[in-house]
Amino acid sequence: MDKEFLVDADALRHAVELMGQPYSISVRSAIPPQLPERGLGSVETLERLAPNVLGGAARLGEVTAFAHKDPPTPWLTWATTLWNASLNQNLLHPETAPVARQLEETVLQWLCPYFGMRGGHMTPGSSAANLTALWAARECAGVKEVIASEAAHLSIKKAAHILGLDFRTVRVDAAGALSPGDLPADLTHAALVLTSGTTSVGALDPLDLIGRAAWTHVDAAWGGPLRLTCYASRLSGIENADSVAVSSHKWLFQPKESALIMFRDADKAAESISFGGGYLSEPNVGLLGSHGACAIPLLAMLWSWGREGVAQRIEHCMGMADTLAQHLANDPRIELFAQPSTAIVLWRPRERYSLDRILNDLPVGIASTVTIENSKWIRHTAANPNADIVRIVHTLNQVLERAQE
Ligand SMILES: *Cc1c(COP(=O)(O)O)cnc(C)c1O
Repeated sequence: MDKEFLVDADALRHAVELMGQPYSISVRSAIPPQLPERGLGSVETLERLAPNVLGGAARLGEVTAFAHKDPPTPWLTWATTLWNASLNQNLLHPETAPVARQLEETVLQWLCPYFGMRGGHMTPGSSAANLTALWAARECAGVKEVIASEAAHLSIKKAAHILGLDFRTVRVDAAGALSPGDLPADLTHAALVLTSGTTSVGALDPLDLIGRAAWTHVDAAWGGPLRLTCYASRLSGIENADSVAVSSHKWLFQPKESALIMFRDADKAAESISFGGGYLSEPNVGLLGSHGACAIPLLAMLWSWGREGVAQRIEHCMGMADTLAQHLANDPRIELFAQPSTAIVLWRPRERYSLDRILNDLPVGIASTVTIENSKWIRHTAANPNADIVRIVHTLNQVLERAQE
């Protein structure tokens, strides 16, 4: 019996203990440049890797983490991910993963109604979800081109490229949302992609455009989870879309890779992107072959928190973004890009303040940068419910004071 394949509760407990240690950047193990001939052994490997892996990453749940769309993850998802790794189920084969496949359907059954969708499946991210949606659009609606705003995520252009569809962009307004006036008049052969929460600025494209094109896909990778909250009406009309993508590894606090592609006419869509195979007992739907049970950590968190628990955390993030925006709007040293609609806040200093010095001084993890029309903006993304907004505002103030030229 090879013990490496059995549960070693003490060793696993030790792995968890290592997670709680403080690691200093200066203490790193040397990783052999070549595959070692003789192995180190599992416990020794864990200890050597811990400072590198656990000490070598941004802490997304820290009180000043406010930069990216990557959230901290609840411990329940760590435990269920460990179960997943130990079982290594393959959802391609119903025989090895009968319950996990059912649980993925349950997650979709729980979430689809908030988007007016009837079914779908999980993918390793919204890049893959967007590609899946546009693939179904090509098969079901015969679309020849993809139209999206110039602020759409690069995965839309990538998907059009892969699928051999033309790609056209439409201008955005001052707040970064698609300008309906610039849409082509004839959309009978087009898939229109509307973004709910654009990548750079979090803008919401007008969802009343749904229905004008042969197929409308809503890329709600970031903003989608607002449908579970008191802000649901910001995405009103999404229920009329043909397909919707949501990244659960963003605002649904899941470990990567986790996302959903949902369809209004789910049966037709699934059939259009299905392939049978001699060795498969059920057809393979979508892009992936072998794949794991990322639905299980998501189901666990949703069951544990309930809709209310999810909503409360996202609403808290929205509140923090509003507080920050309000503060920045009242600061004469600063130009605010726009009022945030999906908890993304952009600003830049006015004259007499050095943007470079600000960027240099900002603590790691508090902000990211985006360039819009050749101009750099500082961006905050409220994906971390544990952020301390008072401390963040205070830190920004200090950095600004030092940046006066
Ligand atoms: C993050 C994002 C994507 C890509 O999603 P991944 O999950 O990173 O693959 C697509 N569209 C928008 C609007 C995004 O914010």
